[in-house]
Amino acid sequence: DWINFTVFFNKIIDRFEMTKSQNVTFKRDIPAEDLYVDIDTDKITQVLDNIISNALKYSPEGGKLTFKVKVFREEILISIQDEGVGIPKDSVKKIFDRFYRVDKARTRKLGGTGLGLAIAKEMIEAHSGEIWAESKERRGTTIFFTLPYNPDQEDDWE
Ligand code: ATP
Ligand code: MG
Repeated sequence: DWINFTVFFNKIIDRFEMTKSQNVTFKRDIPAEDLYVDIDTDKITQVLDNIISNALKYSPEGGKLTFKVKVFREEILISIQDEGVGIPKDSVKKIFDRFYRVDKARTRKLGGTGLGLAIAKEMIEAHSGEIWAESKERRGTTIFFTLPYNPDQEDDWE
């Protein structure tokens, strides 16, 4: 479906902001312009749901989540940053593997199967995008992903 990504993303963030039970601040750095992309909205909703629930799950009280969208020539870059526990250096790449969970003791009480990010990676790659993480232990984690974008599409009247 062709959708305006900024509207779509803001609605998903709104849903989390309205239902969150923790004291976590939401900050948005999302352009006001229309950004039309051709995506499977159910699948990208699932990707965002997992990334945002992870960010909340590993955030401390009083933490902040920052949502960004940056526009490039042929893609948009989406990022979700938290101020949570972070991920050890040697595990950052592995979080996208099926069933991989960083700390068995820590994650057991937080629940989950370890499949969320593996599915997210599959879905982003099916959209010809890329997904990766940057993290610093005790400082927080940022998940980045790209989606193809063609800025000329919108002005194409011919
Ligand atoms: P599921 O998503 O299936 O409910 P899950 O959240 O444990 O389970 P993933 O979403 O695939 O699984 O994440 C894999 C692991 O990566 C998590 O168990 C956690 O250890 C780590 N992780 C993911 N996101 C974060 C984050 N924002 N901060 C810290 N660790 C994270
Ligand atoms: Mg998850």
